[in-house]
Amino acid sequence: MELASREPSLDAPRSRATRAIRIGSINIGGGYPIAVQSMAATPTADVEATAAQVRLLAEAGAEVVRVAVDTPRDVEALRQIRRETGANLSVDLQENYRLAADVAPWVDKLRYNPGYLGSPRSKRTWQEKVRFLAAVAGEHDCAIRVGVNCGSIDPTKRGELAPGDNVAPMLESALEHCAELDRLAFTRYCVSLKDSDPAKVVEANRRFAAARPDVPLHLGVTEAGMPPEGILKTRIAFEQLLPHGIGDTVRVSLTVPAARKAEEITAARAILADIAAGRLLDAEQLATFSRGRLNIIACPSCSRVQNAAFVELAERVREATRCAAEHPITIAVMGCRVNGPGETDVADLGLWCGPTAVNLKRGGEPLGAFSYEEILPRLLKELDTMVGQRAVG
Ligand code: SF4
Repeated sequence: MELASREPSLDAPRSRATRAIRIGSINIGGGYPIAVQSMAATPTADVEATAAQVRLLAEAGAEVVRVAVDTPRDVEALRQIRRETGANLSVDLQENYRLAADVAPWVDKLRYNPGYLGSPRSKRTWQEKVRFLAAVAGEHDCAIRVGVNCGSIDPTKRGELAPGDNVAPMLESALEHCAELDRLAFTRYCVSLKDSDPAKVVEANRRFAAARPDVPLHLGVTEAGMPPEGILKTRIAFEQLLPHGIGDTVRVSLTVPAARKAEEITAARAILADIAAGRLLDAEQLATFSRGRLNIIACPSCSRVQNAAFVELAERVREATRCAAEHPITIAVMGCRVNGPGETDVADLGLWCGPTAVNLKRGGEPLGAFSYEEILPRLLKELDTMVGQRAVG
């Protein structure tokens, strides 16, 4: 695998003066070129499929590849995958932060989500968990990403901050974790603040960069959906951040089958090249996007998808709802319960997928679980009703 030059380069978009942190064989921040990342969408425990997915992404130019780990079987799989690839690996930890100690020897970065460390039922405080993660990272030569996501925000941050300030919970959560890592004298970390709305991504990252100009940022619009719309949403956010020096590493999250995941890298490289060359969207393209119209949010899928029919379902939803394209309605299609319940809470109509059934919500209210065959007609019925009510209202 041949990596792009990792020397600071004036040809590439430059980040602001964050500290440099090392992730395996690359550095991010500190004036290094912006790194491109992606994530494996195969079941981690399937060693052959996930090793092939990591190779596919690395050969396409991914400089860091993230792999989800939720079980001891996943840890064992990652140990074997590590033997088969020299790619820089990041492990995605959500609910089971304890697995960090087992998996750290095989990876270069630990990504944790603050939204999953603060359970009131846990005997350990979130600060103790962060101390544990920082100690594990330090012992095994790993960087850390504090990955805040709009679909799974720390519950203690909801409602306690300024009403109407819809990025404050994400921002406060990130800043609090930075302060804790600083207190522990662990500095090899970066932060991400991801939302499915490009405007919120811009707002959250601008405010974070102003508050913590020293901390490298990983940029992305989460659940951006299928191409080409998912690429456009991401481009809109990146164009408002990268030219201002905000962003040290990026991911374009796309809802595509695992075999097409290299499209995330191609799209990211194209956006970076256009921004470096000053080829930005014009006012008319931006106006077309911001005009109220049907918006489909869909997660990019990962190892946690519980039914392989998820990506196909997202595509079927897009095709079946084209008739409502001019209506300002948001439909979320999510692959599992990690960010599914959160994202579908804020959508007008939401679907989150389980192993055999799809949970349907309207304005955050559960409407029941339906089979993969039943869900589409039921969704269209709700959509029809919603369009009719809004026309009357
Ligand atoms: S919602 Fe679930 S399946 Fe989709 S990317 Fe997030 S964790 Fe993976």
